[in-house]
Order: sequence, then structure tokens, then C-alpha cells
Amino acid sequence: MLKNNDDEKASISVKRILGICLIFLFISGICVFAANKQVKNVKITLANGCEMNIVTSKTKVADILDEKHIILLPEEKVTPDEDTNIGANGEIIITEKSAQEEVSELIAQDTNEANSEENKIELNMDTISQAYSPITEKILVEVQTIPFETVTKNVANGSTNTTDKVLQEGKEGKKEVTYKVKYQNDAEIERTEISSVVIEEPVDKIVQVRAVTNRSTRTTTTASTPVTTSESGISLGTYKITAYCGCAKCCGKSTGRTASGAYARANHTIAAPGNFAFGTKLKINGVVYTVEDRGGAINGKKIDVYFSSHSAAIAFGVKYANVELLN
Ligand SMILES: [Zn+2]
Repeated sequence: MLKNNDDEKASISVKRILGICLIFLFISGICVFAANKQVKNVKITLANGCEMNIVTSKTKVADILDEKHIILLPEEKVTPDEDTNIGANGEIIITEKSAQEEVSELIAQDTNEANSEENKIELNMDTISQAYSPITEKILVEVQTIPFETVTKNVANGSTNTTDKVLQEGKEGKKEVTYKVKYQNDAEIERTEISSVVIEEPVDKIVQVRAVTNRSTRTTTTASTPVTTSESGISLGTYKITAYCGCAKCCGKSTGRTASGAYARANHTIAAPGNFAFGTKLKINGVVYTVEDRGGAINGKKIDVYFSSHSAAIAFGVKYANVELLN
């Protein structure tokens, strides 16, 4: 029984030793892990002289500075440089650059800029060589439409219907056009027509336009631009100037034809007494008129001026003006 007790004690102490060993192994494992992380003390001296001791797991100078939120100013430099890996108990010193260093840095920058200029030139050379890239030619056949033309046919007499009537609908034609097309860098640069073959002739649209028999419309087409002159002729004295148009009211007929046979024109035609030969030029209020007509009431010192519409003739009314003989 006693012996058993001793055995028990022995087994307990073995268990304890094993437990302690396990704990020891666990702790040393943590230590090894920590050592792998390489946590180290680094001394950083700032440009203003301030010193700081930091603990870091980083090795590269740039990473350490970044971790501690230390930003280098343009006029500052770091020793060792930012790409250096630092060991335990390392030291990072930030100082201001000397004037000489700044100058050499500026030169280096200039060189970089010069290099980029070279790049630009190379780019330009690229553009130029592209512009001189080979020109390719292709034959291209296109089917194009030919627009139809609209032809009007005047029907002078007959109906007073003024609406236009389409006698034939137009239809677009088709043609096959062959081009020689020059391409450069897949872009069309020149196109020359080689041939054009009509596949389908266009059909003209024919519109019948009925001439208007309405008096006023017809007479307005016979107006001419007034001819004025500063030339003075032989003064014939004051005449009574009246107005008329080609209507039945004014003339008793509505053909628009004057006694001379010429078609009456506004700003041009006047009716004058028989002592004035047809074709005689008379100047009234600066405008040159031609005697082309006669009138039953036109005698003595009376002249009738032709107007393109009855309303215009009415509006003119009766005037007295000096008449000059021009020819
Ligand atoms: Zn009239």
C-alpha cells in the first residue's frame, strides 16, 4: 500500500516535469516567433536635432519613416538613404541638404526633363513615320441614287383651277459608281471616280401648272422696274395724270394689250393723246414712261398711267404733274 503511494507520487512529479517542459517550449516558441518578427530599436535624429528611439519591425528606412509618419521635406535628406535596410540598434539621421547637393539635384532634374523632351521628340517621330506610312489603294463600288427632276408643264388656257396637278410621280434612279480610294492608316485620304454606270434611269416628276386667268395676278406679272432719269427733256407743261389698269372697268376689255400692240407694263406704259407717237418717252415725276396706249378720254393735256392692279390705279387717283418730252 505504501509502495503504491510512492509510485503515485513519482508519476505525479513526472507529469509536473512534462507540464513545465511543455510550458517552457510554448514560451520559447513565442520568443522564436517574436525574434522572427525582428522587432528592433532604431534611433531617429530629425533635422531640427530632436532624437527619438523607436521600436519597429520594419527594416527599410523609407518604411520606418512612413510607419512613424515622418515625411522628408524637399530640402532634407536621410542617411542612410531610403532604400537601405536597417539592422537592430540602427540609426536614421535626417539633415538638411547642403547647397551643393541641391544644385546637383537640380541638374539631375534638368537631365530628366531633357530625357522626357527626347521622349516627346521620339513620339513626334512616331507621328511623322505614321504620316508617311504606306498608302494603300482599293477599288470601291457604290450604288447611289440619282435624284429625279421636277418638270412643270404650263397649261395656259382652259380651266380657272389654280391647283397644280401631278401628271407623273418622280422616281429616283440608281447608278453604280466605281471609285479608286486611297487609304493611309485605315483612313480614307483620297477618292477618285473611275466610272459611273446608270442601272436605273430616274423618272421625272411632271407637274401641270394651270395658268391663272385671274386678271390681277396676270397683270402683276407685267410690272417693270421704274426707269428714272435726272436728264431733263423739253417741258410740256402741267398735265392731268390719271391711272388705269388692264381690267374691263378701266379699258372695256381685259386682254392687257395696249393700242400699240405691246402688253401693258406698270411703271412703263402710259396712254397719251394721238399727237404723241407710240414709243415716245415722257418723264413724269422723275420716271420715264413710254407712250404705248390711247384712250377715248385721253386728249389735250391728259395722260393715263398704267398700273398692274385696279386697286393701285384707284390709289393713285388723279394728279397734276409737269411732263417732259425726252426724245
Ligand atoms: Zn382697272
